[in-house]
Amino acid sequence: MPTYTAPIDNFRFVLNDVLQVGDTFAKLGLTDATPDLLDAVIEEAGKFCENEIQPLNLSGDTEGCSFENGVVRTPKGFKEAYDKFREGGWVGLTADPAYGGQGLPHTMSSVLDEMVSASNTSFGMYPGLSAGAYRAISLHGSQEQKNLYLPKLTDGIWSGTMCLTEPQCGTDLGLLRTKAVPAGDGSYKISGTKIFISAGEHDLTENIIHLVLARLPDAPAGIRGISLFIVPKFLPKEENGQVVAGARNGIFCGSIEHKMGIKASSTCVMNLDDATGWLIGERDKGMRAMFTMMNAARLGVAIQGLGLAEVAYQNALIYAKDRIQGRALTGAQAKDKAADPIIVHPDVRRNLLTVKSFVEGARALGLWVSLQLDIEEHATDPKEREAANDLLALMTPIVKSYFTDAGFEAANSSMQVWGGHGYIHENGAEQFVRDARITQIYEGANGIQALDLVGRKLPANLGRSLRRFFHPVAKFIEDNKGDAEFGELLLPYAKSFGKLQQATGFIAQKGLVNPNEAGAASSPYLRMFALVAIGFMWLKMAKVAKAKLAEGSDRKDFYGSKVKTARFFITKTLPETETHFRTIMAGAKPLMDFEVDEF
Ligand SMILES: Cc1cc2nc3c(=O)[nH]c(=O)nc-3n(C[C@H](O)[C@H](O)[C@H](O)COP(=O)(O)OP(=O)(O)OC[C@H]3O[C@@H](n4cnc5c(N)ncnc54)[C@H](O)[C@@H]3O)c2cc1C
Repeated sequence: MPTYTAPIDNFRFVLNDVLQVGDTFAKLGLTDATPDLLDAVIEEAGKFCENEIQPLNLSGDTEGCSFENGVVRTPKGFKEAYDKFREGGWVGLTADPAYGGQGLPHTMSSVLDEMVSASNTSFGMYPGLSAGAYRAISLHGSQEQKNLYLPKLTDGIWSGTMCLTEPQCGTDLGLLRTKAVPAGDGSYKISGTKIFISAGEHDLTENIIHLVLARLPDAPAGIRGISLFIVPKFLPKEENGQVVAGARNGIFCGSIEHKMGIKASSTCVMNLDDATGWLIGERDKGMRAMFTMMNAARLGVAIQGLGLAEVAYQNALIYAKDRIQGRALTGAQAKDKAADPIIVHPDVRRNLLTVKSFVEGARALGLWVSLQLDIEEHATDPKEREAANDLLALMTPIVKSYFTDAGFEAANSSMQVWGGHGYIHENGAEQFVRDARITQIYEGANGIQALDLVGRKLPANLGRSLRRFFHPVAKFIEDNKGDAEFGELLLPYAKSFGKLQQATGFIAQKGLVNPNEAGAASSPYLRMFALVAIGFMWLKMAKVAKAKLAEGSDRKDFYGSKVKTARFFITKTLPETETHFRTIMAGAKPLMDFEVDEF
């Protein structure tokens, strides 16, 4: 049976030692978020994930969701676990206290999300989608809508969905057909078919609040004619001064998908037949509303990739220490045994360390990016808010795409450590691979993230966003170049950083003349950028760890391992930037030269 131990020490290291979030939170006036409170939250969340939802992961995958007569049932134990999650206040961890939330920083959401995803990705989909609905209503809803829906979503007694996709439209939402007709009383009658709707129907909550994209009759064609609506499963009504779920609305689940992974998360076809809905935000501005909440949603999916990589690593590591096969190339290590544990073999180590160095580096990067959400929301200085927003906008497609691509690869490499036993369901390794695969597709497929990076984020504000990342990196290199001992890490890193700058210039120039050049370069460029960004985190972590060791810390293994993992990443993974650089420089011709018939 797979296991999971919340990586509490690693969270503490990144939050307290590397990012020093306590100082930032204090500066932002988040005075309730004291280091002690945050520490207690991490520990409690870790316990909940280890004890309540991780034990349901494998059984939830085996059983899956069921569908009968329009009713969707989640696997055994999910409802009880969800109730405990809700009662523990985890759904509203970062929600506004005005609506019953705990008002903790968004950074803590990423910590919780990682642990939830690692323990049980399917389970995490239900509160995850509610968080998306909460954000959409809180950013774009009227005060009346906020008062009506946010307390219920915060409490978790009602859940949410995002209904975008239709059979003929996924990436290109301009093709959307769902219609909304004014009913004359301020509401709308909405009809159409949505597919692939996560948590569209289930048995965990009393009501489901669907956020639906639809088109008004006289709306312009394409994405400029799409509006966003709230469509509750049960229409809210007041009873004894309380808001409760009232009459059934015309939105029904037609079927659920049988799919590769996240089998305990219901993926629904939702049929709307004159369903009553209310406009949220301005008419025809639905896509704009979606964009403003995408950073948080995409970051959430990035964290899913990371969480799955972490749990896959933990289980592969246990196995690699236990499984004995063959002898170390340099001679027997476990002389009392018939063979050595497979962790002695260099190639098994390569698999494990590739994953470990990704997970720990990505965790630091993910939390750094999450911190920008808090700065963007709470900083009093508009310049600071602008800087946070720039960095967030730039890094979101990078972390969404890279964490999920590398997360899938990490789950796969971890499965490799298990040999044939990894292919066997009950050991859990293959579930991590299957569960990770969707993260590369939904919330904007990864190829689309790459296009967003080169097409929108690089040129944004004449490269201002880009400079928000390039400047601190250049400064770090400058500040540390006198440290001869650090040179082992800094010099190779500086080379990769230089190549990234060169590639950026190449894309900016060529892309202007021929957009296919930018498109062709987009994915390798995004990967290159992500590697350099994770490398930056490794430099920071190594610096802190070295300082701790120099101070004589008694945690020599912990900090020593950080320095060694930094070395592994910089010398063994970061050189992939070289390949990406050459691929970018090869231009679009090798791709675009083909006639369709020549494929
Ligand atoms: C399990 C699951 C859960 C989901 N949950 C939800 C949900 O809760 N709500 C919701 O609304 N949707 C949901 N989705 C839908 C998901 O977001 C879409 O599948 C995704 O956006 C891709 O759309 P598509 O499947 O139509 O692929 P398409 O848009 O047809 O794309 C096919 C391929 O072409 C590429 N491509 C498309 N256009 C371009 C372009 N312009 N340039 C370069 N490449 C391009 C894509 O990257 C992709 O690789 C879910 C899907 C699944 C499988």
